[in-house]
Amino acid sequence: GAHIIDGKKISEQIRGEWLEQIAELKEKGIVPGLAVVLVGDDPASKVYVGSKEKACIQLGIYSEVHRLPGDTTEEALLALIGKLNNQDSINGILVQLPLPKHINEKSVIDAISVAKDVDGFHPESVGNLTIGDDSLLPCTPAGVIELIKRSGVDIAGKHAVVIGRSNIVGKPVAMLLLRENATVTVCHSRTADMEGIAKQADILVVAIGKAKAIDSRYVKPGAVVIDVGINRLPDGKLAGDVDYEDCLETAGYITPVPGGVGPMTITLLMGNTIKAAKRANGIGV
Ligand code: NAD
Repeated sequence: GAHIIDGKKISEQIRGEWLEQIAELKEKGIVPGLAVVLVGDDPASKVYVGSKEKACIQLGIYSEVHRLPGDTTEEALLALIGKLNNQDSINGILVQLPLPKHINEKSVIDAISVAKDVDGFHPESVGNLTIGDDSLLPCTPAGVIELIKRSGVDIAGKHAVVIGRSNIVGKPVAMLLLRENATVTVCHSRTADMEGIAKQADILVVAIGKAKAIDSRYVKPGAVVIDVGINRLPDGKLAGDVDYEDCLETAGYITPVPGGVGPMTITLLMGNTIKAAKRANGIGV
């Protein structure tokens, strides 16, 4: 049977490392700061923002949550971002997506200072990631890489197949795997013979947003299976994009949902905030 990758445990281990780094910064009089901006009252977004605030408090990161009404204008939002870009106590700015329809998401992401782009969605951050320059890495994709590495799996030379090509998960995961010297194939909704391709993967990362769509027929015996999907089933339970039960025997390593990739995202967000604080204070990272 598969080794189960415990995202909660790995996440706690990493947060322990963050605590040490934050303590060292505090000795120098530096407190990392994160601003989270929430527009409107989408229930899922509210939960995510609450979790981010809680993580900051737990680690001793200064946090500001700006909760704005759903009818906030783009101009007002851009003005707030401009202010946060210039505020020294803030090292990271995260605008919770999705934004209300009357606001152009791209204009908002583009307005965030690259140095404070802890979500890693700014085009310049994406460009830096692609050409291999140092940048703040998008949190969920960076969390995927940490899960694989901390499970003791060598990525270099492996065939990694990523299913899904979104800008927030699939594409950056593929780019990070390439940076780790994997041979990378990206599959998507128009891929022919996805089963045949997925079955060649030593490392299979799935991010499509379709509950239990990937079963053991897609998995090579012994493969590392990383499930990024979070789907709400009709009975209220959460399920990944991978049929976990069905893959347990075939996979060599597998992440559960919940308790796999999910906990890593906020942990890596805290890491980006610390990294941004170090850089803002001229401490090399
Ligand atoms: P998305 O809808 O933006 O993109 C889905 C991608 O999957 C698209 O590129 C599409 O081409 C591809 N796709 C869809 N159906 C497919 C199929 N049947 N076969 C092959 N490819 C298919 O989704 P996203 O934002 O990348 O998110 C994917 C999943 O990951 C969702 O369940 C989301 O909730 C979850 N997610 C989790 C975290 C986290 O763990 N913190 C973060 C972000 C997203």
